[in-house]
Amino acid sequence: MSIPVVSLVGAGPGDPDLLTVRALKRIEAADVVLADDLIDPRVLALVKGRLLRVGKRGGCISTDQHFIHALMIKEARAGHRVVRLKGGDPFVFGRGGEEVDALREAGLAVEVVSGLTSGIAGPAAVGIPVTDRRASPGVILVTGHPGEGRAEPDWAALARTGLTLVIYMGVARAADITAKLLGAGLKADLPAAIVSAAHTAQQRHAVTTLAGLPDCIAREGLKSPALLVIGEVAAHAALDAVQHCELNLG
Ligand code: SAH
Repeated sequence: MSIPVVSLVGAGPGDPDLLTVRALKRIEAADVVLADDLIDPRVLALVKGRLLRVGKRGGCISTDQHFIHALMIKEARAGHRVVRLKGGDPFVFGRGGEEVDALREAGLAVEVVSGLTSGIAGPAAVGIPVTDRRASPGVILVTGHPGEGRAEPDWAALARTGLTLVIYMGVARAADITAKLLGAGLKADLPAAIVSAAHTAQQRHAVTTLAGLPDCIAREGLKSPALLVIGEVAAHAALDAVQHCELNLG
């Protein structure tokens, strides 16, 4: 008897055209798909087997991970082809690592199907090249919400790198994060962008300055899921259909 395989599949940021070919094959072949909340309905529509919604949102309210682990293990042991469908890339802020560990401990084989992470594809959707070499030699992907009991990123240290910051799950804590970055010496007029629901039908974005970020989010009513992009590259955001808060783009 072959060892059952569970596939952790990255669904990308939204539009099903951004699924990898392998992701599409796994989704279509699955007997059961355990999907997170953030998965675009157009991607869910590709599921032919049983669809189980197991996410719980609000940015990052803790899902009962153990329940998800147990369900995947039960389904795989029953001989079903299991796909665990996760937004973006399964290994970028998606608890994919924890799920792989749980499955391996249960003696199951696991395959990880990488997806486009929203922190790169989201800014790109609005014309922001996160590592444009004219502006920044690198990018930091960081969470604005490390989760209960977990260490806060060292914002001052991140500010000192001078690299583009792409902050996931940062909308609710934008005021606090902005204050820390300004306190660490980042310029008040450093370009900043917010990209909400990238690659979905609800996509919106705005461009502002670091100091203007919290007000801009409130004024434009930009909501989670969203990325905050902080750094000179943010000024590259597409100027058509963009909301300008306070940035003087000349
Ligand atoms: N694994 C995912 C991230 C999961 S954490 C990935 O690789 O993209 C959830 C956070 O990702 C959200 O709070 C938001 O910050 C970001 N996010 C996910 N999908 C998004 C989208 N379509 N547009 C903007 N941000 C998104």
